[in-house]
Amino acid sequence: MFDGASSTLTARPSVVVADGVIAAVHGPAGPVPPGAHVMDLPGLTLLPGLVDAHLHLCFDATGDPAGHLAGTGDDLLREHMAEAAGRALRAGVTTVRDLGDRGYLALDLRDQSRAGTAGPLPAIVAAGPPITTPGGHCHFLGGAASGERGLRAAVRERAERGVDVIKVMASGGNMTPGSLAHEPQFGVASLRAIVDEAHHHGLPVTAHAHSAKSIADAVAAGVDGIEHATFMTADGVDAPETVIRAIAARRIAVGWTVGRDPARPGPVPPQIASRMAALITARRRLYESGALLVPGSDAGVTPAKPHDVLRFAPDDMAAAGLSPAEILWAMTSRAAQACGLGHRKGRIAVGFDADILAVDGNPLADLAAIRRLHAVYAGGRAVLPAQGSLASSEER
Ligand SMILES: [Zn+2]
Repeated sequence: MFDGASSTLTARPSVVVADGVIAAVHGPAGPVPPGAHVMDLPGLTLLPGLVDAHLHLCFDATGDPAGHLAGTGDDLLREHMAEAAGRALRAGVTTVRDLGDRGYLALDLRDQSRAGTAGPLPAIVAAGPPITTPGGHCHFLGGAASGERGLRAAVRERAERGVDVIKVMASGGNMTPGSLAHEPQFGVASLRAIVDEAHHHGLPVTAHAHSAKSIADAVAAGVDGIEHATFMTADGVDAPETVIRAIAARRIAVGWTVGRDPARPGPVPPQIASRMAALITARRRLYESGALLVPGSDAGVTPAKPHDVLRFAPDDMAAAGLSPAEILWAMTSRAAQACGLGHRKGRIAVGFDADILAVDGNPLADLAAIRRLHAVYAGGRAVLPAQGSLASSEER
């Protein structure tokens, strides 16, 4: 068993689950509580359910998610979002953070997941529609606002709706025509107003920021997280040492956009492709400075990013020089921490939710093992294999 925080495996563990929560964890030949239903999973490795800290359940992972969204009414969109969440769960992603929906629909799904009133769903953390400028990046999700009063009102509306986090589009992005990723949308004063209002309501703020200027402004404004953090300038990448040091010192979570499904190849956006080498260097520098790097797939935004794509994230992270243990910590306990669930998710330990995977192989030696998934439990419920086939997994 890999427990989400150690750098070695526990041999022949047993995990006792009661009411969806881990009640005890034992080493070899641990005691079995009387009357317990025993699931034996010989030859497999247990690990905590994966946490995707950045995805979009409302985007359909086609070449035109914005166009399809525009042509889809809320009722059908709800169904698509539930399917997307289910797909992530069946791939071992037991917690997802939706960083941008339309009409707060991800919050509805989150509430259904909590209440257990819909089919098996991952735990969902949701931002609602991202705050953006009129006509700015992802304005079609309905979150445009401007002026200090307007921005504060936008934060208050989200707090009243019950969001878990405020997402702001500090810079332009790659999927909105007319929006340039390397250019800021909001200045530091606007970002400060958003952060101040959000913190007043007890909510963290994470800022989508590709632009090097926007990243510096977001840090100065006191954000809690920065998504993408590619440090783009008009013609390259510029990651100043002072900004990198501030990000590390203030423990700002850096959303590291990772994971592409090799079976669904598609072009990398040209503004990313032309900067790839410099982006990897900047990522490595952030890592070496001790910054809190948190993997998130941005699933839904392109054909290469279906909602179960997080299982391919290790490939990108290994390319930046992280060890398998560092990658697994990041995909479990650290991502859970960034989502505000570090006390309940991302570890196999007493008091944590029983979100447990069983894979074929040792992921600390071979990260591809996380894709050889034999069992998924979410809050102690078997998702894979499905309830009816538990007996066969005991025989395996
Ligand atoms: Zn995104």
